[in-house]
Amino acid sequence: MPALPPDLIVCERDWLSSNNLLCLGDAPAVIDTGHVKAAGDTLRLVRQHLQEQALGQHPLARIAHTHLHSDHCGGTGALQKAWPGAETWVPQPSLADVHNWDEAALSFGDTAQRCDRFGAQHALVPGHTVRLGARDWDIHAAPGHDNLAVLLFQPNTGVLMAGDAMWEHGVGVIFPHIDGVAGFEPFLHTLELIERLAPRVVVPGHGALFTRDNGALDAALARARSRVQYFIDHPAQHAAYAAKVLIKYQMLDVEAMALADFHAWLEAAPALRKLHQQHRPDLGWHDWLESLLAPLFDKGVLRRTATHVLDGA
Ligand SMILES: [Zn+2]
Repeated sequence: MPALPPDLIVCERDWLSSNNLLCLGDAPAVIDTGHVKAAGDTLRLVRQHLQEQALGQHPLARIAHTHLHSDHCGGTGALQKAWPGAETWVPQPSLADVHNWDEAALSFGDTAQRCDRFGAQHALVPGHTVRLGARDWDIHAAPGHDNLAVLLFQPNTGVLMAGDAMWEHGVGVIFPHIDGVAGFEPFLHTLELIERLAPRVVVPGHGALFTRDNGALDAALARARSRVQYFIDHPAQHAAYAAKVLIKYQMLDVEAMALADFHAWLEAAPALRKLHQQHRPDLGWHDWLESLLAPLFDKGVLRRTATHVLDGA
């Protein structure tokens, strides 16, 4: 039995752009739209799949989001321009913030990340269902990585669109914890929810899909639990991990920055200030940054020249 029915198509992307799940049918939909840098690729992928399925005459009808991090909603504006009639769905607590485009509330401000403005008309409410493509999807709250995130579960096919609530290897940054809000325990509860749902196929926010029957789901749950437990026991290590992820992500976006711009960006990301306090408050800001950056340069995650810092990829 193929992992996915023919009306569900995963576009596996990379670490800057989230995966996209196309839900085909009379009213085609897409879940998550990648990073703004790759919005052109997202548009091309959606268009290509609609045409291949002879659905080119059906415009994209719905755009839904597991959560509103910049790597999951950066293509939404471009898709809305291409298909102005598409209805856009976001987790309920974010609907007003999208209307007002409150960048601080939407997380782009705190992380100094960029995202194209888009509109939204509908709320994804846990406990309700949403029609995407040819199927109804159950909406579940999925706090932890992002306390406003939702999971979308399709019970007839057993397909779970997990967003960043679950990856096959490792766990994402637990953003609520950076703001001093509970995140670790909610993350564990979300993993329990996933275990209860027992999805046949998990489409993660990043990386390849994985399945239950070959044991990959159980192995992934065990890895994720032990990683979150490690963060509970060593919260400073979560702060170091989060700071490195934010820096690497920024460099994946811009690829190269003049040294002065790089330092200006570090100063302009309030999340990094909080992570400094959570990781090594005993170090001064500049010493702390150097302690984080040195291993990134040593390992080739980042490179530097006399004038610029560059992504190491
Ligand atoms: Zn995320």
